[in-house]
Amino acid sequence: MSGFIVEANAEGLSLGKKETNMGQRCSDTRSITFNNVRVPANQLVGESESGGWMNAMNAFDLSRPNIAAHATGLSRAAYEHALQYSNERQTFGKPLHKHQAIQFMLADMKTSIEASRMLTWKSAADADAGIKNTESAAHAKRFAADTAMQVSTDAVQVYGGYGYSEEYPVARLMRAAKVMQIYEGSSQVQRMIIGREITKNL
Ligand SMILES: Cc1cc2nc3c(=O)[nH]c(=O)nc-3n(C[C@H](O)[C@H](O)[C@H](O)COP(=O)(O)OP(=O)(O)OC[C@H]3O[C@@H](n4cnc5c(N)ncnc54)[C@H](O)[C@@H]3O)c2cc1C
Repeated sequence: MSGFIVEANAEGLSLGKKETNMGQRCSDTRSITFNNVRVPANQLVGESESGGWMNAMNAFDLSRPNIAAHATGLSRAAYEHALQYSNERQTFGKPLHKHQAIQFMLADMKTSIEASRMLTWKSAADADAGIKNTESAAHAKRFAADTAMQVSTDAVQVYGGYGYSEEYPVARLMRAAKVMQIYEGSSQVQRMIIGREITKNL
């Protein structure tokens, strides 16, 4: 497998329609069709042919901490909206956050966000220090993505019926979180990587 830089206006290259995604709609997702596209040899990425797979895998070690950071930021936004709303909305004579069921939900959200941030920083610090971070990047990406899905879903719950409405910000965050468990290696794939890393020397 080899990677190439292909000019966007190369003859024979065509773009499919913009997909209607569940979330993160400012990001354009399309199929790309290559029909007899000719690419000069000097547009090969990397030193030699057949290095594409390793280039892609090494790139993931750097890109996954970025997705983890993105997911941590999304979780934080959802949590901060939920915390604020829990102080505004009163039920049964007191603010939502005075009900222990809601307060414990907020507590769990905060713990998971703190853990996401620490795992993200660890994987980025490993990369900066030149330490092989395949495992720490997989921990960070898997945990932060799953946390973003859980926290944004809980934020919708804290808002109750309003949470289900696009009038409020948390529905959009919940839709945006889902793809984080899918792209850049799904949560299942991250577990496979972690499993492989922790058992490879047994
Ligand atoms: C909005 C968006 C943007 C994207 N951007 C890019 C991009 O920029 N570049 C790029 O290269 N790709 C991109 N992708 C593709 C993305 O990386 C893939 O969709 C993702 O890797 C999952 O692959 P798949 O869709 O083929 O699902 P499949 O591989 O068919 O997987 C289906 C389900 O089965 C699970 N599964 C698959 N194999 C296993 C296994 N061995 N064990 C356990 N579970 C398994 C998966 O986790 C998933 O839940 C993007 C996707 C989306 C939705």
